[in-house]
Amino acid sequence: AARQELLLSRIRDVHDYPQRGVVFKDITPLLADPSAFAELTDALAELCARHGATKIVGLEARGFILGAPVAVRAGLGFIPVRKAGKLPGATLSQAYELEYGTAEIEIHAEDLAPDDRVMVVDDVLATGGTAGAAIELIRRGGAQVAGVAVLMELGFLGGRARLEPALRGAPLEAL
Ligand code: IMP
Repeated sequence: AARQELLLSRIRDVHDYPQRGVVFKDITPLLADPSAFAELTDALAELCARHGATKIVGLEARGFILGAPVAVRAGLGFIPVRKAGKLPGATLSQAYELEYGTAEIEIHAEDLAPDDRVMVVDDVLATGGTAGAAIELIRRGGAQVAGVAVLMELGFLGGRARLEPALRGAPLEAL
């Protein structure tokens, strides 16, 4: 509970960003506070251990900032999932729906092995579209999904329900 309060106190609400009517959850104050950042890293690393993860997938871009130190802390490999066109090797691609239009993310197929259990790490779960697409990439790469671990879930957007079929019983953990 003390940990939750510390983390929550370092998340800033930015009104009308990136567009009018939206309240953006800004984690940069948390990143700038070394004890809060360490608490977050420890908490996410504990979740990875609890769910038997062997690798971490971080989602561009804030999922890189959180996922990389968690991977080092937990002693696990890190795999970046990037927006289309950024990875130099052979990739798997997955398109998914945005509020207006579609987006596409990619992974290096060779980073995934059949015995891998992969934890998806990101800062915020909103509609669940991004995390759902990442789960598809992991499965199409032949690996298993250990779960999804985020700092924050925006419950009113219904991401958890939308993600449930893709999770197939794997946990969605929100700190
Ligand atoms: P979703 O695909 O709708 O779940 O959106 C999740 C993605 O958008 C994540 O990669 C988040 O980093 C980003 N995102 C959505 N809303 C916020 C927010 O309020 N703060 C920070 N990131 C957000």
